[in-house]
Amino acid sequence: MSIDFSQEMDAPLITPGVTPLDSGEGSLRPQTLRDYTGQEKAKGNLKVYIEAARRRGEPLDHVLLYGPPGLGKTTLAGVIANEMGVNLRVTSGPAIEKTGDLAALLTNLSEGDILFIDEIHRLNRVVEELLYPAMEDYAIDIIIGKGPSANSIRLDLPKFTLIGATTRAGQLSSPLRDRFGVSLRLELYQPDELQKIVLRSAALLGTEIDPDGAYEIAARSRGTPRLANRMLRRVRDFAQVYNDGVITRQAASDALDRLEVDALGLDDTDRRMLRSIIVNYGGGPVGLETLAATIGEEAVTLEDVYEPYLLQIGFLTRTPRGRCVTNLAYEHLGIERITSEPEQISLDSIGG
Ligand code: ADP
Repeated sequence: MSIDFSQEMDAPLITPGVTPLDSGEGSLRPQTLRDYTGQEKAKGNLKVYIEAARRRGEPLDHVLLYGPPGLGKTTLAGVIANEMGVNLRVTSGPAIEKTGDLAALLTNLSEGDILFIDEIHRLNRVVEELLYPAMEDYAIDIIIGKGPSANSIRLDLPKFTLIGATTRAGQLSSPLRDRFGVSLRLELYQPDELQKIVLRSAALLGTEIDPDGAYEIAARSRGTPRLANRMLRRVRDFAQVYNDGVITRQAASDALDRLEVDALGLDDTDRRMLRSIIVNYGGGPVGLETLAATIGEEAVTLEDVYEPYLLQIGFLTRTPRGRCVTNLAYEHLGIERITSEPEQISLDSIGG
């Protein structure tokens, strides 16, 4: 039997944003804090805030979620809405082009509802300024008419909760950042947490998998649930054809090797990035923009997608002068480090 997997192999396995490979992602989203694996610190704090808000019969304070893509920010917003027993409206920074768009969203909310704005750092300035009074006083000022006859009217809004998500908290303006009562940072997941997520997703997809198979996928998913679920679907296809549909450790490992994801989850771009620092810049330091130009990638992609994981596994360090590759990365790539230590002058040679 010959099956052509070349199309899937070309698909971007590591891209963090939602891709066609994630179709049906929604069905895998956990609905409750109990099902939401990992992020213990963020979850622990949230439980308290949710419980306190519920006891007071008030909406939850505005929440800012930040961290790399695919770690479960949208999912967590859904979980919060579910735990609070309120509706969730989902939108994103770039989708709200005009103040009128935001005004329409806000005035359509009911008391206690949650408005989730993904990529909130990409809101335009005018829209962002309309959010300030909305968040603070639950009211917005709208200008009606033009020129001298223009009139400003104040519209009261229902008490709502804004949940903003961003991959880069540093890019948020400080007036906006300061208006969030709760700010939670999501961390990359550990392999055993991702293993649980993979086992749960496999059960929902009706796929037979053994714990070692799930661990193999988890270990190669760069700490990111979206990638773990995506790899699970790919591996499932291979297992279906070559392994009677059962995902064992071997089946997972064979499939991921074919997809060119290595044992630590590094793909071609990671390897090009590390190699370039080694070959072109003697192991670093090198500035991100320079590196991006050398390997033909966008600097933001390297910073948001590739770097967090390489930093976490200790392959890369950040210094004020740029990025440096560590010995661990040299070992992983099988490249010998040539150090140019200054020559030692022995006392003998100078006759002392
Ligand atoms: P983000 O909004 O941070 O980009 P998402 O919330 O869209 O990420 O999560 C991507 C996918 O990962 C979702 O389909 C969800 O099923 C899964 N996921 C994320 N976090 C968790 C978690 N803590 N437990 C289980 N599944 C998760």
